[in-house]
Amino acid sequence: MRSHKELSHKLFGVGVGVIQVLFILWFMRATGVNLKNLSKTMNRSDNFGKNIKKYNVEKGIKITFDNIAGCENPKLEMKEFVDFLKNPEKYHKAGAKLPKGALLGGPPGTGKTLMAKACAGESNVPFFYMSGSDFVEKYVGVGASRVRKLFEAARKEAPAIIFIDEIDAVGRQRSSMGGGEKDSTLNQLLVEMDGFSSKDNVVIFAASNRLDILDKALKRPGRFDRMIEFSLPNREEREAIYQIHLKGLVTSQAHDIIAKKLSPLSTGFSGADIKNICNEAAIIAARASKLSIEMIDFERAIERVVGGLEKKITLTPEEKRLIAINEAGKAVVSWFLEYAPSLLKMSIIPRSKTNLGFSQYIPSDDKIQIEAALRDNICYKLGGRCAEEMFFGEVTTGAQKDLEKCYEIAHNIVTKLGMAKSLYNVRLHYNEFGQKAYSDKTNQQADEETEKIIKEELVRCKQILKEKKDLVDKLADRLIEKETLDIIQIKEVLGPRPKISDEALQKTIDDVEDMLKKREEEDKAKAAKTQQVIIPNPT
Ligand code: ATP
Repeated sequence: MRSHKELSHKLFGVGVGVIQVLFILWFMRATGVNLKNLSKTMNRSDNFGKNIKKYNVEKGIKITFDNIAGCENPKLEMKEFVDFLKNPEKYHKAGAKLPKGALLGGPPGTGKTLMAKACAGESNVPFFYMSGSDFVEKYVGVGASRVRKLFEAARKEAPAIIFIDEIDAVGRQRSSMGGGEKDSTLNQLLVEMDGFSSKDNVVIFAASNRLDILDKALKRPGRFDRMIEFSLPNREEREAIYQIHLKGLVTSQAHDIIAKKLSPLSTGFSGADIKNICNEAAIIAARASKLSIEMIDFERAIERVVGGLEKKITLTPEEKRLIAINEAGKAVVSWFLEYAPSLLKMSIIPRSKTNLGFSQYIPSDDKIQIEAALRDNICYKLGGRCAEEMFFGEVTTGAQKDLEKCYEIAHNIVTKLGMAKSLYNVRLHYNEFGQKAYSDKTNQQADEETEKIIKEELVRCKQILKEKKDLVDKLADRLIEKETLDIIQIKEVLGPRPKISDEALQKTIDDVEDMLKKREEEDKAKAAKTQQVIIPNPT
């Protein structure tokens, strides 16, 4: 009797167990959890030290300094590292202590990664690559572990180059509170750098768009001893970069002629933008089944890089007029200011839901700008908003980006350039913990000065628009009619630009005009020839 009861208890227990397992399996299915993932998740926390994401390593890199145009100063500095990696003995014998590496700073796409790779290619050493953001994980200690592994691997394969991109992701000034995953990663990086000598034959490069926010400890002697600055290419450099990226492309004119024509149209563009333009132009030409890439394809590619892709967004006539007035307002104000950038093209073909109109302005190539130039930049950018107010009696969201830019320039004038009246020659700065190193009173003063500059420029902008209201109206009408206006069509409405301070910029605009006129003549000649072939002479 008892054994029968025990048996039925056991069977009941097994039954409940089976139901539990079935329920768990059903629950996992319903919630999308599978056994593989579950075990991965469970192992993750135990294994994070061993199972860390690996760095990338490239060997036998074929990139050399010949693949980089411009950047002459960075190239000179990097050549020293190449010589060291190729002939370390020479330096060791002389007892020379070489820099452990360099910080490469500058705007995005200016060739920092390319230069580090070329350095590896020239010295024929392995290139260990990791991005700062790859180090950072939510698990404490993972970042530090990744740093250790990276240095360990590079040492094993020495001579080698370590390249850490976006170093600011871990190298920002450490917090005053201490601790934190980022801080421990940075500490490990500093420990590793201190722990090896030039005898290890490993060179470390780290890149950032913001060298100014990096922790001072990184820049101390014995760590990143050198800082190499990359900047946006000038006219000649852009021409040379175009030549590099035109290689292999079938173009309707010689590469050097195209590079010469495109360079002035690409002021303010980085090497990466230029590469992008060449590729976009090839795609545009191929889509039109052309046998070679023509100048017009490159121009369209520039438009696409500056303004974005044209989108099919239907606009009502009222919306079109609003956009046209906004663009025309800016165009007219810029036309009558000595230092405003040069207008080249206008369009009311939408590029995105927030970018419904687009105008291409060419900024000056000058590295140093006077205060009047900065103010002219604010003044013309306010032209869109002021014109809306003048023509429609109310304002819209269309000027959002322009207003952002205006504030940025005005704020820089006050806080970084020491040009504001009440804070003359004062540069406001942050302490090593990233906090404001000035009083609340100064902060308020800076806010007031920024506002004052914008208000002053608003008055100037309104005055120009009041005087030239007819021109804004005419230009907007023409823009609505044609949808896109080139510089010749703009000039037909506005007349010649009265004064422009930058002769090089004026020459660029003249060159573009000549180019457009020549193209029109060529098109006309082509059309006439085709007509002659189709309609044979009746005699
Ligand atoms: P980021 O700060 O965004 O990481 P970066 O400064 O590291 O950018 P790179 O990644 O080196 O820029 O550049 C992207 C691409 O742009 C390169 O692979 C190269 O094709 C092109 N490029 C940039 N600068 C030059 C240059 N001076 N000469 C030739 N090509 C260039």
